[in-house]
Amino acid sequence: MRLVIMGPPGAGKGTQAAVIAEAFTIPHISTGAIFRANVGEGTELGQEAKGYMDRGEYVPDSVVNNMVQHRLAEPDTENGFLLDGYPRTVDQLHELNRMLGDAGHPLERALEITVNTEEVVQRLLKRAETEGRADDTEEVIRRRMEVYATETEPLTALYSDQGILVKVDGMGSIDEVSARILAALRG
Ligand code: AMP
Repeated sequence: MRLVIMGPPGAGKGTQAAVIAEAFTIPHISTGAIFRANVGEGTELGQEAKGYMDRGEYVPDSVVNNMVQHRLAEPDTENGFLLDGYPRTVDQLHELNRMLGDAGHPLERALEITVNTEEVVQRLLKRAETEGRADDTEEVIRRRMEVYATETEPLTALYSDQGILVKVDGMGSIDEVSARILAALRG
């Protein structure tokens, strides 16, 4: 199973991605988590990404595309993978299609988790309290929502045209949403 998971910040992507990855026994590849690990370790990649992340902006496509290309070359992706947080721009989508097309293993599903914006803001403010992420202040949250709407939301139409878009309602408990997602992906 080769799939991507999409949805606005706070839609529960990370949580649901972990459930899906376990259910299908595939690696969960979160570009945000890779960036945060690199920031934590103070690598060159981390230093390059940190400013963008702190402002709620996207890291430049060339940097992200290169990182994902390397990650997808790891042997654990041979039987599939779940990409979480990538692609986020039209350029990244085309680049991913190219990478996978070249390998003869195109993407099979693009899962979009839909939520209502007010619930999203509440979830993110709660996460800010418990996890204390640098990009979870209210101002940055608002910026990240805006960037998602303008840069990433349009990707769902492209995946719909490719015939691989699966939309799932992300409202409700974690277990309810997981059950919906697994039913939609298996169906
Ligand atoms: P996330 O954990 O997916 O919300 O990602 C946290 C931050 O990492 C984002 O706000 C961006 O600054 C950066 N980031 C992660 N993935 C990407 C991507 N595909 N393109 C650009 N920036 C990204």
